[in-house]
Amino acid sequence: MSFEYAPAPESRAVVDIKPSYGLFINGEFTDGTGTAFKTINPATEEVLAEVAEASDADVDEAVKAARRAYTRVWSRMSGAERAKYLYRIARIIQERGRELAVLESIDNGKPIKESRDVDVPIVAAHFFYYAGWADKLEYSGYGSTPLGVAGQVIPWNFPLLMLAWKIAPALACGNTVVLKPAETTPLTALLFAEICQQADLPPGVVNIVTGAGDTGRAIVSHPDVDKVAFTGSTEVGKAIARTVAGTDKKVTLELGGKAANIVFDDAPVDQAVEGIVNGIFFNQGHVCCAGSRLLVQESIADDLLERLKRRMSTLRMGDPLDKNTDVGAINSGEQLMRIRELSEVGDAEGAERWEVACDLPTKGFWFPPTIFTGVSQAHRIAREEIFGPVLSVLTFRTPSEAIEKANNTPFGLSAGVWTDKGSRILSMANRLRAGVVWANTFNKFDPTSPFGGYKESGYGREGGRHGLEAYLKGADA
Ligand code: NAP
Ligand code: MG
Repeated sequence: MSFEYAPAPESRAVVDIKPSYGLFINGEFTDGTGTAFKTINPATEEVLAEVAEASDADVDEAVKAARRAYTRVWSRMSGAERAKYLYRIARIIQERGRELAVLESIDNGKPIKESRDVDVPIVAAHFFYYAGWADKLEYSGYGSTPLGVAGQVIPWNFPLLMLAWKIAPALACGNTVVLKPAETTPLTALLFAEICQQADLPPGVVNIVTGAGDTGRAIVSHPDVDKVAFTGSTEVGKAIARTVAGTDKKVTLELGGKAANIVFDDAPVDQAVEGIVNGIFFNQGHVCCAGSRLLVQESIADDLLERLKRRMSTLRMGDPLDKNTDVGAINSGEQLMRIRELSEVGDAEGAERWEVACDLPTKGFWFPPTIFTGVSQAHRIAREEIFGPVLSVLTFRTPSEAIEKANNTPFGLSAGVWTDKGSRILSMANRLRAGVVWANTFNKFDPTSPFGGYKESGYGREGGRHGLEAYLKGADA
C-alpha cells in the first residue's frame, strides 16, 4: 500500500506581521533615526517587513532609557515585585505560544515542530525559572546587587530563546537591558516587546534596538553600559573582548563550537543514530553546540553509518510551517554560501560526501542533510564550525584516542558520549574539555542547568544558579 503525502501546514493567520517596525525604546515603538532594512522568510525569500536600523544616537537613547528605569524603578523594586512581572511575561509567552512559534519559523526558517515544541516552551521555562530567583538572590552565592544596564547582542539561530537566556536572568537580578536581535531575525524580539507592554513592564526596563553589526558595536562600546552579554561567532566575540578590555564592564561571551559526538561499540545503536541526527540536523545544524563531529569506534563504524544513512533518508525537508517537516530552510543566503564553501573544501581535502537525495524547493535557501566520511583531524571540515546540516565522521579505536581527537579543537562547548557503561561516561566526562557533556542523549536544554564554553567557545555561564553570576556584583559587593 502506498501513501500520498499530505502536507499539514500550521496556519499563518495567527500572526499579524506589520509592514514596518520601529525600535522599542522606553516602553514605546519609535521610528528611529537610521534607515530601514528588510527581513525575509528564508524558505520563500518573501519580504516580511521593513525594520528600523538603530543608529548610534538611537542606541544612546535606549541606554539612557534603560539607565533611568534602572535608577528610578527597577533596582528599587523588591525582588518579589520584579518576580511578578517575570511570571506575567512567562504566562503571556505561553498564552501567545502559537503566535510566537509561527512567527519564529517564518522569520528564521526553522521547522514549526521545533519552534513550537522546543524553542517557545524553553523560553517560557526560562522566565518562570528566573522569576523564582528574583526574591531569593541572597541565597545565590553571588550577592544580590545588580550591575546596572546590560547591553545584549544575540544571533539568528534561536532568536527568541537567546533573548530569553539574556533577558530573564538580567531582569530577575534587577538590571535593565538594551538588546539587539540579529538582522535576519528581528520579528520575535519585536513581538516580545509587545509582550512587555502587555505585561505593563515599566518603560525602559527592556529596550529592543534592531540593526546589524554597527548597532551591536554601538551597544557594546557605549560608555554607560555596565555589562555586555554576547552570543555569536568567535570572531566577533574576540572583537568585543578587545573593545571592553580596560573598561570595568563585565562581559560574558557564548561563542562557537565543534562538538564531538562519541559513539562506543557497546552503545545502543539505534538510539545513538537518533542522537546523531538530533545532534547535527536539529535546527538545520545552526546550533553552537551541534554534534558536528561524529567520532565512532572503528569496529561499529560501517554498521552505524549504514543505519545513519537509512535514517537520514527518512528526514522530511521543506516548508518550515508544515508540522511534518524535520529540516527547514538555511537562515540566509549568506549562511548558505558559507556552508557550501566549507563543504567544497571538504571535497577538495579528499573527504567523501554523501547527501540525502531529495528535491530542494526552487525558492529560498536549502542545503540537504550531508555527511562526510574519511575525514581526518587536519581537515578544515573537522576543525571549523560549518553551522549547517553537515556532519564530519572520524573513527577511533580506544577511549584515549577518542578523548584526544575530541579535545583537539580550539572550541569546547559541548560533547556527547554514547555507551552502555556508566563508569566510562564519568571518566569521559571528566576528561572532555567541554562545558556540557551529554550522555546517551544530545541537545538537552533546561533552564536549571548552566550552559557555556571552554577555550574559544567563550566564558561565563547561562542558565541555572550559575547564570545569575553574570548579572550580580558578587557576594562581597
Ligand atoms: P555573529 O556574526 O557573531 O553575530 C552575532 C550578533 O552580533 C548579531 O546580532 C550580529 O549582528 C552582531 N554583530 C556583528 N558584528 C558585531 C560587532 N562588531 N559588534 C557587536 N555586535 C556585532 O554570529 P552569527 O554568524 O550571526 O551566529 C552564529 C554564531 O553564533 C556561531 O558561531 C555560533 O556557534 C554562535 N552561537 C553561539 C551560541 C552559544 O551559546 N555559545 C549560541 C548560538 C550561536 P547581525 O545582525 O549583523 O548579524
Ligand atoms: Mg528573516
